[in-house]
Amino acid sequence: MQKVNVRQERCKQCGICIVNCPKEAISFAEEINLNGYRPAVVDNEKCISCGNCYTICPDWVFEILGEEN
Ligand code: SF4
Ligand code: SF4
Repeated sequence: MQKVNVRQERCKQCGICIVNCPKEAISFAEEINLNGYRPAVVDNEKCISCGNCYTICPDWVFEILGEEN
């Protein structure tokens, strides 16, 4: 079940989301995006839909989908 949508083309690999996720659910992808960065990916098994990543990302990468999605 996907809880967070990650718009990976926007990510600049700054890492702010990773240090602010309480569940250590975010890491960087192996593949680079169109801008040459390894974008954030979310482990849905760990994510609790808290919204920290959505709030803190300076590039509006995340959309919170919630449990029902
Ligand atoms: S805070 Fe946003 S731009 Fe920075 S690594 Fe996370 S998703 Fe990418
Ligand atoms: S919603 Fe919360 S738990 Fe899920 S990836 Fe973002 S910061 Fe981590």
